[in-house]
Amino acid sequence: MDKGFSQDFIEKLKQNNDIVTTISKYINVTRKGKTWWACCPFHFEKTPSFAINEIEQYYHCFGCGASGDVINFVCKYESLDFYDACKKLAEYANMELPEYHNDDNLIKLKKKRDRIYNLLVDAAKYYYGNLKKPEATPALEYLASRKLDMSIIKEYGIGYSIGWHDIVTHLKSLGYTEDEMIDAGVCDRYEGGKISDAYGKRIIFPIFNLMGNVVGFSGRVIGKADFAKYKNTAQTLVFDKSSLIYGINEIKKAKKQGVLKEIVIVEGQMDVISLYKSGVQNAVACMGTALTASHAKNLKRFADKVILCFDGDNAGKKATLRSIEILVNAGLLVYVVTIPDGKDPDEFVNAFGKSAWDEMLSNGLYWVEFLIKDFASNYDLSKPEQKTKFIADALNVIKSLGSESEQEIYLKMVQQMTNINISVLKSDLTKLGTQNVTQEDIVETVDNKINLKENSYVKSVKFIIASLLYKKDYAKLDDRIISNLYNSDYVKIYKYIENEYQNNRKPIVSKLFDMFDVENTSDIYDIVNYNFVAGDDNNKHFEDCLNILIKTGLSSQIDSLTAKLAKVSDNNERMEIMQEIKKLIAEKNNRGK
Ligand SMILES: [Zn+2]
Repeated sequence: MDKGFSQDFIEKLKQNNDIVTTISKYINVTRKGKTWWACCPFHFEKTPSFAINEIEQYYHCFGCGASGDVINFVCKYESLDFYDACKKLAEYANMELPEYHNDDNLIKLKKKRDRIYNLLVDAAKYYYGNLKKPEATPALEYLASRKLDMSIIKEYGIGYSIGWHDIVTHLKSLGYTEDEMIDAGVCDRYEGGKISDAYGKRIIFPIFNLMGNVVGFSGRVIGKADFAKYKNTAQTLVFDKSSLIYGINEIKKAKKQGVLKEIVIVEGQMDVISLYKSGVQNAVACMGTALTASHAKNLKRFADKVILCFDGDNAGKKATLRSIEILVNAGLLVYVVTIPDGKDPDEFVNAFGKSAWDEMLSNGLYWVEFLIKDFASNYDLSKPEQKTKFIADALNVIKSLGSESEQEIYLKMVQQMTNINISVLKSDLTKLGTQNVTQEDIVETVDNKINLKENSYVKSVKFIIASLLYKKDYAKLDDRIISNLYNSDYVKIYKYIENEYQNNRKPIVSKLFDMFDVENTSDIYDIVNYNFVAGDDNNKHFEDCLNILIKTGLSSQIDSLTAKLAKVSDNNERMEIMQEIKKLIAEKNNRGK
């Protein structure tokens, strides 16, 4: 895969950045035997399942499956692209970065992106500086009414847009073009081609990504408005609202300081800031969009418990219900807090302070309980037909719980609410359960049958290639291996291994990370992380696997000849084909059943 640098440079870069040394710059690692271990930085965990293989120079997390070489680690940990990760590693190793050769379009795109980042910082500085101007009085009054002092304003880089055209003049004076201002989402173009500030006369909240770069803005109108209070940057090259989380940098800091226990998700960035001001460091908000699976994944890097704390109105309720599903599916422990009297978090913490806030959070409901109580509020449980509907809703949620004891806790809750005997509820639940399981079972059985034959072949290929890759003493090159590989990825690996063997070198496992996107190519991933079983007679196993490869090859030859036979009418030719098939069948039978 051409990634813009020579293979030579990449090799040297990796040699000069030992993976253990590099990763320990970011997280704590400890050695146990041959392997180094750490708590995975890519998913939340308390006991280490993140392993670093020093000899082969790659990492692998047994919890979430993340794996890769040192470049991949830096890309992921720092949210950098390949080029920037190489640049960083070159700095660590005091190496000069060679010229970057890549697709012209890619280079252009990269330059464009860097310009946008710079433009956004300059715009943010300008908006912040505006607060000192006399035109900013309404903004300062508003910020004071929200009890935000200068230290918070500075911390969050809050600013103000004093007009519609001054930002254009300012950015032009710094050398930016109108197109760049539009691409960065700072300006809009109107009919007639004129451009103006996209956030004219609004309070400006810069939005940062995990790296701390400004990627966009959220602008709030002062006072009442007929249109939406907040306007966020539209999708740009650097702004993707489906994964951005407001406040994620504070979460990152809290995690580093070891003070992060859980994450609170609130509705707006104003809530995040007010809470922070009151000493609550763990609140985040989505940017004018519903929570997505990609938000959930980002949150899970930092904590395994989240508390949903949306506004008490209908919209907030809907958002809560939608978010529960996404967060639970991401494997997070989800709690729900409803603020009394329809207050929003900002109002609540301003009125009652941090200790009241903490207490309210500690009384949050586990999502199952929240849903059951919410269902109950939709029905009049004194009416039999409504009671039945409520039970059906509740059982559907309880069914999704993993353990029977957990199910029992909530069945008891439903029992108390409905006065229906728990054994009756249990039997209803079982009926719900079995109906679903049988359908899934049938599908699974069919799938397994289809895959069975292929599996023994694929398993054999994986064992053979992994053995060769790790240069096991029983593993030998054999032309019959490559002639029976039907997957171009396997062929590619085999050729690489063959070349290394012929030059008396041991293949470098982490090389595969250059050749493939290992994490997303499960077959390759299985080979890199192959689990060799100690004590097996590997000599014999290698022979057996090779035999399976050859037999599979013979079978497919027989199949294609049989198909050909059906199309041929010339008798002589038919005879020849039949002879050939006979020969292949005999050969296959010689190799055992
Ligand atoms: Zn992990």
